[in-house]
Amino acid sequence: MSTVPTITLNNGVTIPQLGFGVFQIEPENTKQAVLDALEIGYRHIDTAQMYGNEAEVGEAVAASGIPRDEIFVTSKLNNGFHDPADAAKAIDESLEKLGFETLDLFLIHWPMPAVGDYLETWKALERMASEGKSRAIGVSNFSTAHLQRLAEAGTTTPAVNQVEVHPYFVQDEIRAYGAEHGIAIEAWSPIAQGKVLDDAALGAVAEATGKSTAQVTLRWHVQRGDIIFPKSVTKERVQENFDIFDFELTANQMDEVSGLDQGADGRQGPDPDEMNMIPS
Ligand code: NDP
Repeated sequence: MSTVPTITLNNGVTIPQLGFGVFQIEPENTKQAVLDALEIGYRHIDTAQMYGNEAEVGEAVAASGIPRDEIFVTSKLNNGFHDPADAAKAIDESLEKLGFETLDLFLIHWPMPAVGDYLETWKALERMASEGKSRAIGVSNFSTAHLQRLAEAGTTTPAVNQVEVHPYFVQDEIRAYGAEHGIAIEAWSPIAQGKVLDDAALGAVAEATGKSTAQVTLRWHVQRGDIIFPKSVTKERVQENFDIFDFELTANQMDEVSGLDQGADGRQGPDPDEMNMIPS
């Protein structure tokens, strides 16, 4: 079995660098998908209130027989619960659905700058951490401007910023801010929801390394030091995505992959400053 490296977050909590994401996995398929991932060796699951499958993630963790403290689980505050009182209730609901006493990591899913005040929401997450409801807290889809506002207010530095990153959108500015301020980067949609997999340049690196384009892409993230959690409901792919610790990309191969960057044109998801959607 491959050994997954861990990253130490700015409060000393450690997180496996490779996890399993469950966005867009239907609740009825989630328990089995998570059990498959745990069987393969994953020990880090990334869910969210918005995904509607926290209960099934919790069922899989309980059914796996693996001690709870050996599996790192992240959830995220849904967009409609930014009001501090709503946020406090929302994390309690997450804990109840998951069947956990504490989360490993809890994030503000989107800053929603036009809808609420993410600074007050962040202070609510600080209270949750001090009450022991999550071992670490962080943000998702925050720009450097959003992060600067938290810093200027003298609040806790987020442990992570989970943002869209893949070879078509390498996000070096936000990653540099994270490196400078001790905020680990979690790269969501690490293979751009499959869009990078037919890329000819990635194909050439894949051929040279004897690995698949998915493995080359995931390895590129790992060597950049980011945390990833690719999603798949296909067990062979879940295994393939796990088998990325037995080879290394050269500096030239790393540059070739980074060179595929298309800047903001490469985005697959929404621009955080324009994301105001509150799911029903
Ligand atoms: P990914 O980049 O992980 O791509 C998932 C897609 O790629 C699926 O269609 C999957 O197909 C396919 N796939 C996976 N592995 C392979 C492989 N080895 N070969 C070929 N195809 C493959 O996209 P996600 O958007 O799911 O991102 C991963 C995780 O990031 C999410 O699950 C979620 O946890 C998080 N996320 C967070 C966001 C945020 O706002 N914070 C936003 C989006 C994602 P199939 O399942 O059919 O096998």
